[in-house]
Amino acid sequence: MNDVIIVGGGITAAHAASELRDQGHSGPITLISAETHLPYNRPPLSKGLLLNTEDVDSIYVHDRAWYADHEITLRLGTEATALDTKNKTVVAGQDTITYDNLLLATGSSPRRLDIFEESELNVAYLRTLENSLNIKAKLKGKILIIGAGWIGLEIASAARQAGASVTVVETAELPLLGVLGDELANVFAELHREHGVDLRLATSIDSVDGKKVTLSDCHQLTPDLVIVGIGANPNVALARGAGLDTDNGVLVDAQLTTSSPNIFAAGDIANHDHPTLGRIRVEHWDNAIEQGKHAARAILGSTEPYTRLPYFFTDQYDVGMEYVGHPGTQGFDEVIVTGDKAQRALTAYWLKGDEVVAGMHLNTWDAIDKIRKVVRTGPVDRAELTSLP
Ligand code: FAD
Repeated sequence: MNDVIIVGGGITAAHAASELRDQGHSGPITLISAETHLPYNRPPLSKGLLLNTEDVDSIYVHDRAWYADHEITLRLGTEATALDTKNKTVVAGQDTITYDNLLLATGSSPRRLDIFEESELNVAYLRTLENSLNIKAKLKGKILIIGAGWIGLEIASAARQAGASVTVVETAELPLLGVLGDELANVFAELHREHGVDLRLATSIDSVDGKKVTLSDCHQLTPDLVIVGIGANPNVALARGAGLDTDNGVLVDAQLTTSSPNIFAAGDIANHDHPTLGRIRVEHWDNAIEQGKHAARAILGSTEPYTRLPYFFTDQYDVGMEYVGHPGTQGFDEVIVTGDKAQRALTAYWLKGDEVVAGMHLNTWDAIDKIRKVVRTGPVDRAELTSLP
């Protein structure tokens, strides 16, 4: 009958379920999610929901009726705790369910900061709808954000727009330095400073004493709320317990198959053997959707490799950004920036030799199609590159 079980309740899971039905799968599909909500999009949690420009009802992938109409059994608020690859069973709550094919889409969880674990401070992390609503209710007074990555900076933007005073502490010399390189990382540093963020770079938490935080630069704060945004770890416990190969995620081949032939993994959890980029694990919305769909097709017998390039976006204040590509294990040699950095309207290309390995724009929305066309397509003419929007 080809019973498909999807473990996970994020967008990877939801899009895999849709694709299975769209491709004509008529057998049973069961979606097991530890969360009590229907699968929802997480990008609004650090943007529209905090800014009050989107409401909760708009974030769901499908409404409840859609799952009923498509005969998808939802087991929400249920954690899958054990997976037996020999007998093809998964333990979900009190039940043991049999599968023919299983998709792992367990996503990732925020890395925690030990120094705050036992503190008297009000400390928050952002991954779930509850986390977002909790932070939204407290976006006032003095906010301390640990980590100037995408999520930390998006929260900083929302907090400043809500009128809070914001300090961001980052151990690197610049925000987003590893992804963007220093020229563009500086654009984001300036953006936040112009909006009144106290951005403390090359700085860490030295100590926490009661409600007082001392930074490595000796600055002291008494924040009303601390938000930790220092990255996420893949949720591999179930896969590891089942003996699947894991290493920074669940190892999957080009087709998204794990080391067990009837088990696939997709989205944040998948450490994928990408045909052009080598092994990568991507924690982005587009990847979760497209890998979810791809895994569904693989479950139905497709042997196509997953070749799509990573894509992601961010919105901070009045700046929108889209980025396509990935430097892969080879990295990049130079960044070519065209446009107006002061106005934050520009395109940027990361090159390895004569090949564009990634491209990005800030507030130059008609550039994205052209960026997609030049990334990883072989040697480019640099003059032509700088003439692109
Ligand atoms: P997840 O969304 O993590 O979902 C995994 C689900 O599986 C969860 O519901 C979890 O509870 C459940 N689960 C885990 N283990 C079990 C188990 N054993 N049994 C049952 N259920 C289990 N990306 C962008 O490209 N652009 C953005 O602007 C952007 N903004 C973001 C903002 C925030 C606040 C966050 C948190 C992420 C953002 N992302 C963004 C990243 C993007 O949302 C993720 O890449 C995407 O959510 C990954 O989807 P997923 O389904 O693989 O995993």
